[in-house]
Amino acid sequence: MIPYGKQDINQADIDSVVAVLQSDFLTQGPQVPLFEKTVAAYCGAQHAIAVNSATSALHIACLALDLGEGDTLWTSPNTFVASANCGLYCGAKVDFVDIDPYTYNMCADKLEQKLIQAQTQNKLPKIVIPVHFAGQSCDMRRIHQLGQQYGFKIIEDASHAIGGKYLDKPIGGCQYSDITVFSFHPVKIITTAEGGLATTNQPGLAEKMQLLRSHGITRDEKLMTKESEGGWYYQQVELGFNYRMTELQAALGVSQMARLDEFVAIRHQLQQRYDELLKNLPVITPYQSPDSYSALHLYPIQISLDKVKKSHKQVFDQLRQNGIGVNLHYIPVHLQPYYQNMGFKQGDYPNAENYYKQAISIPMFQGLTFEMQDQVVEELKKVLA
Ligand SMILES: *Cc1c(COP(=O)(O)O)cnc(C)c1O
Repeated sequence: MIPYGKQDINQADIDSVVAVLQSDFLTQGPQVPLFEKTVAAYCGAQHAIAVNSATSALHIACLALDLGEGDTLWTSPNTFVASANCGLYCGAKVDFVDIDPYTYNMCADKLEQKLIQAQTQNKLPKIVIPVHFAGQSCDMRRIHQLGQQYGFKIIEDASHAIGGKYLDKPIGGCQYSDITVFSFHPVKIITTAEGGLATTNQPGLAEKMQLLRSHGITRDEKLMTKESEGGWYYQQVELGFNYRMTELQAALGVSQMARLDEFVAIRHQLQQRYDELLKNLPVITPYQSPDSYSALHLYPIQISLDKVKKSHKQVFDQLRQNGIGVNLHYIPVHLQPYYQNMGFKQGDYPNAENYYKQAISIPMFQGLTFEMQDQVVEELKKVLA
């Protein structure tokens, strides 16, 4: 089976992890700060806070922005559940803004309409989380401008987007947001096995996230309520968690960062080839915005079901049977039972639902050879014939 995504591990990656195993620190050593410095420098951000997953990063990002009971968080329905769950962890309400039918990202027009309505009801969101779906940036200039106008904070869920650019600047520089979050799960662009990271240019937010990832404990006298009592002394000044990244993960991350640009360049070659090879098939290939250099985490196509004598499920199942490990990103979050129990229903976000009804993610990863890609296209041709 050709998977839809897969990590790319070379000997240098393996050596870097083995070196950590033979060193003095498996956690809380020099590799995590080095990984943070590497990512911050790459993105052009002032601060980077590495944690054990993007889910953890989203959680502490929301807490650092003081999200709590009585507050509301808005995100896209076309995302992984973690982009919404982080609001619920904080006791806040969660709501969604429908997607643009071309980019599959949160629609800035729909966001504005919803804000105008929310203002009349005194229900404006405290945080909006745009998700850079498939690696392509949202319309951040507009979303940022709306943030200024309506007073909400912005966390970019860039789990798909490390190595991508928006208006010629690396994603993660936080020009248009308060915090950006990355994921390093093995299917993403680079991996640390499990892992995530938050970037910000605001020292206060960085300090708060550093505390929250490690129990709310500090050894920095500047953050204590009184003078240190001695070399052993620390204080707990917040209620934090153990969301720390290990040294093994961070070393793998540093090693992977060295190949990030190469990984994304390979994905662009594959994208251009897919665009060409799929031209005459009854599918819609993913639109690429001129504002964005996508990291191309995914290559989601829509099957033109009106032109194919098969159902969405039949196309999907036949591809899987024929060795193509297709996937579907995403089941709209508001259609999950947990969210339906909160009152969301079918029909709430029609663009996300229509997209879901015909979307399939075909294989896209740096180890996909042209031969494998041709095989994917051949199987697609057969299934759609
Ligand atoms: C993968 C992903 C996450 C969660 O990442 P983890 O590192 O697995 O916690 C969050 N949001 C989006 C959009 C994702 O794709």
